[in-house]
Amino acid sequence: MHAVSWEQLCRPRKEGGVGLRPLLEIREASALKLAWSFISRGSLWADWMHSRYVKQGNFWTCAPDNNHSVTFKTVLRHRVVLKTAIRRVMRDGSDTDLWRDPWIDRRSLLDIRGSATHREDRRGLKCSRILRDGVWRPESYRYTEELGGIIMSTAIDPALPADRWIWEPPGASLGSGEFQFRSCYNLIRHTFSLSPDYEFVWCKGLARKMQLCVYKLLLGRLLTRDRLSSFGVAVPDPICVLCSSAPESIRHLFFECDVTWHIWSEQSRVLGVCASGRNIGDIIPVIRGGRGRGQDWFRTARVRLAASVWHVWRERNRRIFEGLVTPPVGILHNIDFDVNAMEIV
Ligand SMILES: [Zn+2]
Repeated sequence: MHAVSWEQLCRPRKEGGVGLRPLLEIREASALKLAWSFISRGSLWADWMHSRYVKQGNFWTCAPDNNHSVTFKTVLRHRVVLKTAIRRVMRDGSDTDLWRDPWIDRRSLLDIRGSATHREDRRGLKCSRILRDGVWRPESYRYTEELGGIIMSTAIDPALPADRWIWEPPGASLGSGEFQFRSCYNLIRHTFSLSPDYEFVWCKGLARKMQLCVYKLLLGRLLTRDRLSSFGVAVPDPICVLCSSAPESIRHLFFECDVTWHIWSEQSRVLGVCASGRNIGDIIPVIRGGRGRGQDWFRTARVRLAASVWHVWRERNRRIFEGLVTPPVGILHNIDFDVNAMEIV
């Protein structure tokens, strides 16, 4: 996989990579998990950190300090993104700071109002002031109608032992509210545009070596002789080893070479399509267009395409590096054998 950049490999498969996760993003997601552990107060560590660093103050407005440990500074640094991934569910509001905790649609009252008068922001004022007998009563605190509406939509669950945070990042399916590393990672990571052809690479049941061969072909990264020459590698003979009639390039080897064309024509006949394209970018839409024939056909077509690509590449390498030659009928037999084996999976 040296032919593809590390940055490209470290993308999700649907976004053109092979699904590796960059360590920097793993580190960030782990730090966010730590911040979640801190606010959810489910451990002795979290309770100790609160009593050591937050004390009677508020975590969400606490300023970084030289006396803070590296771990706590890391937790503080992730407050902004953490705020976007959590939601408050109230029992009675007695554990939720009215002004500073981000309980109103992921924002705090201070975030919304900008500031509070000294009289309004009395130390330690809790949400229980406007939540009585399981009912929100924002009108008792002179909120605007719009803000009152948002407050009224904040969830209340009197059955809870206390007010609690639930894990609910945007875009993730609603679950139990418990932390999930996958959704945490998705919140942190860079996203890229979708790769429309990913399903032709990561087809279920397709052998890994074939997946990676098609992956490199779609990116134009297979090391054919023309590419090796362009890198300055001394190539004694630039001619295609399958037909000995034209310089070897990805375009020639896979879609213009007589040997390959014979193989692809046979696959088109078996699949019942007319794929007369001159590169894989032309053939893929033909297969995609046949999707209406059913999932089984669509899968078989993708498997046949990948197996053909891989066997052409294998035959090219065997001829160059081992001096072995398999006639087209033999290559077709090997393709059918592999396709049948993968169909059983
Ligand atoms: Zn050729």
